Parts: sequence; structure tokens; C-alpha cells
Amino acid sequence: MPILHDYDPIDADPKTKRLAKTEGLGSVTMCGCGTISLNVQTTSIRLDLQAFAQLLLLCSDAMDVLEAMARLVPQPDAVPFIH
Ligand SMILES: [Zn+2]
Repeated sequence: MPILHDYDPIDADPKTKRLAKTEGLGSVTMCGCGTISLNVQTTSIRLDLQAFAQLLLLCSDAMDVLEAMARLVPQPDAVPFIH
């Protein structure tokens, strides 16, 4: 019997556990074989635990850069108050 990796893995395999879920965005599930699925809207990415951990760090690094870039752009509400 083939290992199931359907879009809705919770219904497809009772051994699949939902690790987290955000309404309107998606979920993270873990299959009985240890594969982690990142389910975002209509797309599902399957990763092993190490790759999933690396993905978190990758996204964190990208967010740090985005925040640094945002600090470099003058913000409308950052105009200094003049007495
Ligand atoms: Zn599996």
C-alpha cells in the first residue's frame, strides 16, 4: 500500500498529526512516517524534520532583512516632532 500524502492528510491517514493550524492560511502536519507537510492554501510542501527546521531559520533570516529594509525607508509617522 502506498504512503498517502494527500492535500488533506488528516483525513487521509489517521496516523497523521496536525501540529499547528492558522485559519485561512494553512497547517503543518506530520505523517506517520515522520514527513512534515506545510499546507498553505492549495499548496503542500513535504519536508523531513531537518529541512523543516532549516526552512524556519530561512524565513526568520528573510524577515530580519525585511525589517532592516523597512527601517531604512522613511516612515510617514516617523517625522520628528518640531517644537
Ligand atoms: Zn508519510
